[in-house]
Amino acid sequence: MSDGGIDIRSIRNIGIAAHIDAGKTTTSERILFYTGKIHKIGEVHEGAATMDFMEQERERGITISSAATTCYWKNHMINLIDTPGHVDFTMEVERSLRVLDGAVAVFCAVGGVEPQSETVWRQLDKYKVPRIAFVNKMDRVGANFFDVMSQIEERLGATPVPIQLPMGCEEAFAGIIDLVEMRAIEYTDELGTRMELEEIPQAYVDEAQKWRERLVESLAEVDDEIMEAYLDGKEVSREKIKEALRFGTINLKLVPLLCGSALKNKGIQLLLDAVIDYLPSPLDIPPIKGVNPLTGEEVVRHTDPEGPLTALAFKVLVDPYVGRVVYTRIYCGTLHTGMSVLNATTGRKERVGRILRIHANKREDIDSAFAGTIIAIPGLKGTRTGDTLCDEKEPIVLEGMNIPEPVISLAIEPASKADQVKLSKGLAALSEEDPTFRVAIDHETGQTIISGMGELHLEIIVDRLRREFGVDVRVGKPQVAYREAIKKPAKGEGKFIRQSGGRGQYGHVVLEVEPLPGHSGYEFEDKIVGGVIPKEFIPAVQ
Ligand code: GDP
Repeated sequence: MSDGGIDIRSIRNIGIAAHIDAGKTTTSERILFYTGKIHKIGEVHEGAATMDFMEQERERGITISSAATTCYWKNHMINLIDTPGHVDFTMEVERSLRVLDGAVAVFCAVGGVEPQSETVWRQLDKYKVPRIAFVNKMDRVGANFFDVMSQIEERLGATPVPIQLPMGCEEAFAGIIDLVEMRAIEYTDELGTRMELEEIPQAYVDEAQKWRERLVESLAEVDDEIMEAYLDGKEVSREKIKEALRFGTINLKLVPLLCGSALKNKGIQLLLDAVIDYLPSPLDIPPIKGVNPLTGEEVVRHTDPEGPLTALAFKVLVDPYVGRVVYTRIYCGTLHTGMSVLNATTGRKERVGRILRIHANKREDIDSAFAGTIIAIPGLKGTRTGDTLCDEKEPIVLEGMNIPEPVISLAIEPASKADQVKLSKGLAALSEEDPTFRVAIDHETGQTIISGMGELHLEIIVDRLRREFGVDVRVGKPQVAYREAIKKPAKGEGKFIRQSGGRGQYGHVVLEVEPLPGHSGYEFEDKIVGGVIPKEFIPAVQ
């Protein structure tokens, strides 16, 4: 089966995961430039970034919405699924991790592994996402490829295997040594479009030889044939090295390590080659599991365009041109326009009038989309993030997306009576887009309470209400949601002052906690429990 000459084996659904500021946006933008989707390279913080959908993302320099963008490289289709880097958007990250098959982890060559890179890495571990690592910003003062490599090994417990070495660093960063092909790539123009392939310069020969041996040594661990050749001191072919690297990466045994400078346009084409060479196609991932809603039996679906339609809605976004679209990953079967599908989560039927492939620069109408692809569907009124779309005759509900309970709430009210209608409209639209954003009415006070994943999350919501819906609002102080392990303050350290809002509505109770002097946060575990307040806390909140 093919789609514009692309078969399933040539699809890569990938995400770029990184600590904020590591260069994820710049790297994504360069990928779109080299794959021909955008024609001008712009400074991301000057408002030219194409991946960032929303104005405030540009202003804040963070990416909130995870949109999927399709591009092509060497006869492969790459669906780039944007993953937000900020911890407040963990839910967004989890959503995108559900639907991607592989990831590029971007590190800053100076900062290396930072706490947030660790969070993102652990999430990739949790979803068993094969990955390659890109050490970006090799041009910056203090860049050190090998330091980052050690940090990935020590802090993340991974097995990074350099498949490249930088030629020079900081201002003198001039090119890359490819340890698979054993050749050097020098960039001779500012845009990085002119790459000279050459022999490894004399000054780097010994080092390259040493790291090539290490590469073969690492691969001997995952491939018996290479192990034998290694023990016999025989040469291992380039093809064999690539094959073992692919196997080791897909089976999570190693992480190929690359380097470059997105800003200076160095290393992006080689990164794209590595995405194709080492990251899995939809045929390389385990089959997806779900439950037949009628019988309760487990159902397993493979990546098969001829099989029963099985798709996951992973993101609802209001597209500025098309309106509400549902980003969907198709796992099995083929979706055609005009088809009627079952939303097995809600039990309602939906008609698919249009199917869109979202490119950085345009929205392309397509007639059909098959297993392994990611598309956007306009006009699905009753479908929300996490819903399963399937063939009515063979229903399946895919294992639910882990939608966490909100952790922070605040009261919100319109600044004037005239704003009330706009506020309600805005809140309805935003909670539709984002399942971690909730709206409730506090029965005691009659106030509207909004809840989300963190202060920044709610700040952005309030910002969007002002900008996109033109509502002038007043907000109260954020309140931390009750979690199981909020450390009960010891005598004299601080106290719970009152219980407020949301009780019963979402199975959690919001407590206001008086902060300790000189203490800005509260310690709690990562688990939120619903239900009633444990008895031991009751005296504290009464
Ligand atoms: P994100 O937060 O991970 O999306 O990071 P951005 O792509 O927005 O980059 C953060 C900052 O680092 C911006 O000022 C970029 O211009 C800069 N930057 C990105 N890549 C490089 C690079 O390769 N070298 C240098 N020197 N700066 C870079």
